[in-house]
Amino acid sequence: MRLSDAPLIDQARIARRVEELGAQLREDFQGAPLTVAVLLKGAAWFAADLLRHLPHDTRVEFMRAQSYAGTASTGTVEFGLLPAAEAITGRDVLLVEDILDTGRTLHAARAQLQGLGAAKVKICVLLDKAAPRVEAITADYVGFRIDDEFVVGYGLDYNEEYRTLPAIYTLSINPH
Ligand code: 5GP
Ligand code: MG
Repeated sequence: MRLSDAPLIDQARIARRVEELGAQLREDFQGAPLTVAVLLKGAAWFAADLLRHLPHDTRVEFMRAQSYAGTASTGTVEFGLLPAAEAITGRDVLLVEDILDTGRTLHAARAQLQGLGAAKVKICVLLDKAAPRVEAITADYVGFRIDDEFVVGYGLDYNEEYRTLPAIYTLSINPH
């Protein structure tokens, strides 16, 4: 297992992109009361930075999904925490996730929000991975598009470690 020496995406690039996304979101959701639904744990770091750029009537809810063991997707998505229905019903919702890979997590999370009666669900991901999708999911807002590599840092983990790295690194599991 080997962490890349240099970050794939450094702190300054992340901060600049988060600011740009914030500006775009403020414009796109002007006048409509917005709820941001954050997928724990990985998206908490990205969301905390992004939320600093959003209007103060923005509501924040958390969801917890788990579909991953190690570096291989297990194929099932379970929810351990869901948003309060009154924060979702009839409102525009921005679903915030760390990374889009097979699409299973976002597909299941969006279905939960639609089930709670969201008026509209848009998806914002920090990273969009060039990996085969299992579910047809397209993110409306993307921080960075990356190759099909395993990345850690800025909230993203490998077996619950590496989340605290301030930038995004690649992790090779079987170095040769
Ligand atoms: P999906 O459901 O789209 O296959 O996967 C999304 C979830 O898988 C993310 O929330 C994240 O937890 C995990 N994941 C996918 N790719 C990576 C990666 O490169 N690094 C890390 N740390 N997690 C990933
Ligand atoms: Mg995750």
